[in-house]
Amino acid sequence: RAKAEGRNCIRFFDPKMQKALNRRLELEADLRFAAARNELLLHYQPQVDHEGRVTGAEALLRWQHPKKGTISPEIFIPLAEETGLMVPIGQWVLGSACSALAAWRADPRLQALTLAVNVSIYEFRRHDFVEHLLHLLARSGADPRRLKIEITETVLAKNMEDTVEKMSALKRHGVSFSLDDFGTGYSSLSYLKQLPLDQVKIDRSFVRDVLADQNDASITRTVIALGNTLGLEVIAEGVETLEQQAFLWGHGCYAYQGYLYSRPVPEPAFRELAGKRFPRPLAEPDGEN
Ligand code: C2E
Ligand code: MG
Ligand code: MG
Ligand code: MG
Repeated sequence: RAKAEGRNCIRFFDPKMQKALNRRLELEADLRFAAARNELLLHYQPQVDHEGRVTGAEALLRWQHPKKGTISPEIFIPLAEETGLMVPIGQWVLGSACSALAAWRADPRLQALTLAVNVSIYEFRRHDFVEHLLHLLARSGADPRRLKIEITETVLAKNMEDTVEKMSALKRHGVSFSLDDFGTGYSSLSYLKQLPLDQVKIDRSFVRDVLADQNDASITRTVIALGNTLGLEVIAEGVETLEQQAFLWGHGCYAYQGYLYSRPVPEPAFRELAGKRFPRPLAEPDGEN
């Protein structure tokens, strides 16, 4: 902008902006080496069925920065996507998830669980994504039927044909797919129909106010009905209270994830949780009784 205004025009950056820019550049430089320096790790958040049993986990990436402490993926994933670092970081995530799944095979409490992994569009649209993932699965000895890929609606908007082709190729090996943050993007019904999905995940922004906000309640009910009609499993994220769980259960959603059960935790803690039986959903709060 300063340049466009001509050479004789002197403009100063807002010092606050300059500081933010420096911080960003520093973070980007650090992120470049985060994987090699062993600063990345996965946390696991349980997914629970209507009987209160743990059926699997979502792997959620954490960056343990040596000076800045734990940095949220909400901050560094967008940064990684903007700087071309998403592909190597995503490869680290998939490799780690496959290793975890392979290790779980030896533990009776864990061997039947699925592990859901978030995949960015920047990874998914790579021409060798399928080949690379199949290689990681084979190398680790993980069972592809235990791996679930979470994609968001941005993946769909790009190139439908390529997306369907990649999903189908992986599904032939047993990998399943979940549509994350459902309802927040601009998915059309035709996408949903064309895609070989296994699950839709109701975004936590709807779940949060499902009891207080009529619109969120309507959207949630509609998404559940839509998923069920299409033969997809419906899972709700961000379930924090028994009342939310009861609402979801009452409207046909039988899989849950959220702080009600557990925050995302390191692997040893997840192993403990996996054997746990959580309370089953109560009747609806405003039900008959
Ligand atoms: P997401 O995939 O939608 O993951 C769910 C987020 O909701 C996680 O945040 C999780 O910690 C949080 N959450 C779960 N239950 C509750 C709850 O009951 N209440 C509240 N308030 N929050 C809850 P997190 O771990 O900070 O991750 C944020 C986002 O970063 C993820 O959203 C995902 O889009 C992205 N992300 C995380 N790990 C990876 C990864 O390995 N690869 C990629 N590409 N993206 C990732
Ligand atoms: Mg997710
Ligand atoms: Mg989500
Ligand atoms: Mg989300």
